[in-house]
Amino acid sequence: MYKIAVAGTGYVGLVAGVCFAEMGHQVTCVDIDQSKVEVMKSGISPIYEVGLQDLMIKNYESGNLKYTTDYQSAYKDADAIFIGVGTPEQPDGSANLSYIATVARQIAESVEKDCLVVVKSTVPVGTNDKVEQFIQDFLVNDVKVEVASNPEFLAQGSAVHDTLHAERVIIGTESKWAEELLQGIYKPFNLPVVSVNRRSAEMIKYASNDFLALKISYMNDIANLCELVGADIQDVAKGMSFDERIGSKFLNAGIGFGGSCFPKDTKALEYLAKQNGYELKTVQAAIDVNKEQKTILYKKASRRLITFNGLKVAVLGLTFKPGTDDLREAASLENIPLLLEQGADIYAFDPVGADNFAKVHPEGQNGRGSITYVSNVEEAIKDANVCFIFTEWAEVREVAPSMYKELMRTPLVYDGRNIYSVDKMEQAQVEYHSIGRKTVERQNMKEANERELHAARS
Ligand code: NAD
Repeated sequence: MYKIAVAGTGYVGLVAGVCFAEMGHQVTCVDIDQSKVEVMKSGISPIYEVGLQDLMIKNYESGNLKYTTDYQSAYKDADAIFIGVGTPEQPDGSANLSYIATVARQIAESVEKDCLVVVKSTVPVGTNDKVEQFIQDFLVNDVKVEVASNPEFLAQGSAVHDTLHAERVIIGTESKWAEELLQGIYKPFNLPVVSVNRRSAEMIKYASNDFLALKISYMNDIANLCELVGADIQDVAKGMSFDERIGSKFLNAGIGFGGSCFPKDTKALEYLAKQNGYELKTVQAAIDVNKEQKTILYKKASRRLITFNGLKVAVLGLTFKPGTDDLREAASLENIPLLLEQGADIYAFDPVGADNFAKVHPEGQNGRGSITYVSNVEEAIKDANVCFIFTEWAEVREVAPSMYKELMRTPLVYDGRNIYSVDKMEQAQVEYHSIGRKTVERQNMKEANERELHAARS
């Protein structure tokens, strides 16, 4: 078993650290945020991920897992130091590597024995070469430090499962020593390991994420065309999914991708290409389509209504996807300011994301409009004039179409996640706008009513 330190206790670092401990390694998780460290020591997870808190408590109690802000003591005699700090987007689209640089310097000044530094953060191709050089430049003791790449593929919302049962572990190394050490650390996971050189490992991460982003934007583009030509995107996706070359995942159309990875990783790869004199046209298209898609429902609703001023607007879902409290690049963050600007009175429901959202938009008056956080869907939609669905939480999925008709002042629903059957919404007499499918207009509902009446009479 190995002595491991992990720098950064966000989604990637904390989950990795906890899972290494679960596999029997001696792990110390390091963060600069003292309050976060105190919270973790008290047995509480600072992020919401299914199963994470239980594993944190179990491994903390067994002594396999520690939390600290004292990086020196954590790094000085570690066999491997994993870096999982953020690499956020900069205004020009490039990745901000300052957090990585800080950790690299802290490592250089702390290590007292040979160790492997493993970069888990998503970094542009070539960064690990620079990290290695940077560490050499600042190294205080006469020890060997090598850098390896081990990009992370977990999805928020299923991070623990994705780590313990990863489809593959990518390791990018430049020496047999580094490769064997990483193989050893991952041995107890019993997962397929793909061993490549460092630059290829860095590229695999971007190429994979950007491919998925492209797939989403492609389906959204096709969905928008489906609406214009009378096809149904869900039927189209179903038909496509039988082709093994296409696969059945990531074919759902919606209001675009968000989260901490796809938006920034598409821009970072595009930036890297530009830096190297290459234009990555496919990725640029994915970015452009996504930008338009984020507010497509707002634009549709603006055409349908004279104004949002003074309207009660229900918003169901604030996080960028279900299963997480993360709001980064969520559709809600783009649409809610637009609605508030127009004077809407928003009633928002999200089972775990409301507290984080309230930090950006506190409850009460927000400019011309207002926002109220409610604890269930019913409260949000009661007497509402219009409802937007931004996140497909189970609590939203299980609301019957008839509830919108019953509770809303005007049963007018804009669904960015296509969670309802168009026919069922029509039967429930809800005016229903979704993505890439038939719209249930007032007119359709009248006709459906008349058909029902006619059938009842005859
Ligand atoms: P995050 O922002 O949630 O967490 C980063 C943590 O690092 C914070 O707790 C911060 O306090 C800490 N930190 C900053 N400087 C530090 C230092 N010098 N020493 C110790 N800790 C420090 O980030 P995240 O979402 O976990 O992402 C981390 C990296 O992993 C990014 O490069 C991201 O692109 C990549 N990644 C993220 C995901 C994901 O789903 N979130 C998936 C795959 C890859």
